[in-house]
Amino acid sequence: MILDQFRLDGKTALVTGASAGLGAAMAIALAQAGADVVCHGNSRSPRTCEKIEKLGRRTAAVQADLAQSGAAESLFEKAQQFAPVDIVINNAGTIRRAKAIEYSDADWTAVLQVNLNSVWKLCQAAGRFFIARQATGKIVNIASLLAFQGGITVPAYAASKGAVAQLTKPLANEWASQGVNVNAIAPGYMRTANTAALQRDEIRNRQILERIPAQRWGDPADICGAAVFLASAASDYVNGHVLVVDGGWMGT
Ligand code: NAP
Repeated sequence: MILDQFRLDGKTALVTGASAGLGAAMAIALAQAGADVVCHGNSRSPRTCEKIEKLGRRTAAVQADLAQSGAAESLFEKAQQFAPVDIVINNAGTIRRAKAIEYSDADWTAVLQVNLNSVWKLCQAAGRFFIARQATGKIVNIASLLAFQGGITVPAYAASKGAVAQLTKPLANEWASQGVNVNAIAPGYMRTANTAALQRDEIRNRQILERIPAQRWGDPADICGAAVFLASAASDYVNGHVLVVDGGWMGT
């Protein structure tokens, strides 16, 4: 039955950046679909776990600063101690805004480390594990509309998200025949801490709303259907796709 293909019973997911925003929403949605969930956070303790426990699912909180080299690999090992992982959602991300001529090396390095290098290392660790155990696996990388567009004063972020969308494709090409699906979601403008500065900026807020056919910012809940789809058997023949969830922005 078609809805059964979306069920995640018996699966274990690792969601990075599950303490807030889109990551918290996706972690809870995966649990609602039946998965046990390892919730990663950096600074804040993931209250998401409490909500998942209330759904009757098993869960654990793990901390890792993905701006540190080596953190992604040890995060995957910690998650494996909870249960063998079937689904990885590479959601943690950071944004630092400054004009290109003033952009600091520290900001560039931090954004690329969290948004790209750690995603790559987590994909590699998960891919190695899935292929060695000869079972299916799902990887969902969270990109952005700035995988396609440049944005304003976010050179490191746009470079990292463009790279995440591209990275998704060679991994999908290599691993599809071994039952490992690698896909990405490109969220549009969603109401989270990541976009707080834009939401506060009256002019940018108006410009953004004028371009979105749905005429509203996205809510974290808006990304959950795409996440469950790409984490489930319903997407077994979907490989290397970047699924845009943007209220129609890219069509205008
Ligand atoms: P958010 O509310 O700011 O959440 C970001 C998450 O990433 C938090 O859980 C945070 O952990 C984690 N994180 C940040 N820096 C980290 C680090 N150094 N090490 C480990 N974890 C770190 O933002 P969001 O909007 O939900 O963003 C989630 C993802 O969606 C990001 O990849 C973002 O680029 C992408 N995205 C968002 C939008 C949007 O409109 N909101 C649009 C396109 C793409 P702590 O809270 O524990 O620090």
